[in-house]
Amino acid sequence: MENLNSGLLPIQKWGIKSTERPVVIAGPCSAESEKQVLETAKQLSENGINIYRAGIWKPRTRPGHFEGVGAKGLPWLKKVKEETGMLITTEVATEKHVYEALKFGVDILWIGARSSANPFVMQEIANALEGADVPVMIKNPVNPDLDLWIGAIERIQKAGIKKIAAIHRGFSTYDKSLYRNNPQWQLAIDLKIKLPNIPLFNDPSHIGGKRDLLFDISQKAMDLHFDGLMIESHINPDEAWSDAKQQITPAVLNKLLDNLILRDKKSHSLEETVELEKYRAQIDSYDNIIMGVLGDRMDVVKNIGKFKKENNITILQPNRWDQLMKKNYEQADSKGFSKKFVDRLFKAIHQESINFQTAIMKEETKEKIVKVTK
Ligand code: PEP
Ligand code: MN
Repeated sequence: MENLNSGLLPIQKWGIKSTERPVVIAGPCSAESEKQVLETAKQLSENGINIYRAGIWKPRTRPGHFEGVGAKGLPWLKKVKEETGMLITTEVATEKHVYEALKFGVDILWIGARSSANPFVMQEIANALEGADVPVMIKNPVNPDLDLWIGAIERIQKAGIKKIAAIHRGFSTYDKSLYRNNPQWQLAIDLKIKLPNIPLFNDPSHIGGKRDLLFDISQKAMDLHFDGLMIESHINPDEAWSDAKQQITPAVLNKLLDNLILRDKKSHSLEETVELEKYRAQIDSYDNIIMGVLGDRMDVVKNIGKFKKENNITILQPNRWDQLMKKNYEQADSKGFSKKFVDRLFKAIHQESINFQTAIMKEETKEKIVKVTK
């Protein structure tokens, strides 16, 4: 595998050793039992993972689901640290969580998406962190609001915490989407532009919500030069007490990481990659506009088709085509487009318009055939 960490990653400045892989934080969505916690950690550690995650307090959207084992799971994490040497991390959402986690030697704290969306919660956590020397990772808020994410980071910075990272876990949408949480990559890129010294992790598990999306999301994060990944891993994913569909075994995680293509950092600096992605996002948005406009144009074509049908006018009106192209050539010239390109483009659009109109005419023919044969 190529070495992603040829340069010094911001997170390495925290004193965190990283292997030749991206910095990977892995472990179950939730700590369920001492056995599950330790066995998962052992397998991950054998595969070279050295930062272990497990949720102790689980913020569930609806009541009545497993809300985490609570503080009784903290000694299990402590044992992971003692037996494997891994760093341990868990989510904190209240002042009490902060105190309890620190009491049990949790090495890195993370703040979840429902907490980072709430400035009161963020302030409570920040107050509890005053004077502590612990790295804190802040997930993006559930809603796509860059200022809210930055605000959450700033509150932790103001509490005197120096080692801060951000985690991109995607954003809630009401509409059904391929993803559990829409990645909206541009938002994470904008955070990276505004806060270039904050290490940025990607959480493909909560973005994807299902196993088969994890690789593509992780690869995209690597292409965008994220510093690392947080991936949920469980010894028996199907039986997990929370987020079962998105968890993978340590062995599958190993395979995923081995297959990641790590682009050469030297050929593209972070700035170049970010710049390139910004242009790509602009192009995507213009392509959307083009498709939208073509759709609107085709609606007009359909109306013309109906009008021609009702008034018995032929589809092809050569004069009209010549006039239209004359106007297009003039415009193309001022934009530096070749005549050939404009020809091809409008012939393709025109051909599709004719197809639509022919379909409308055919409907009428079908009606007539039915009438004649009845
Ligand atoms: C989690 O990491 O298990 C979690 C609850 O994440 P999020 O806050 O991103 O929903
Ligand atoms: Mn989870």
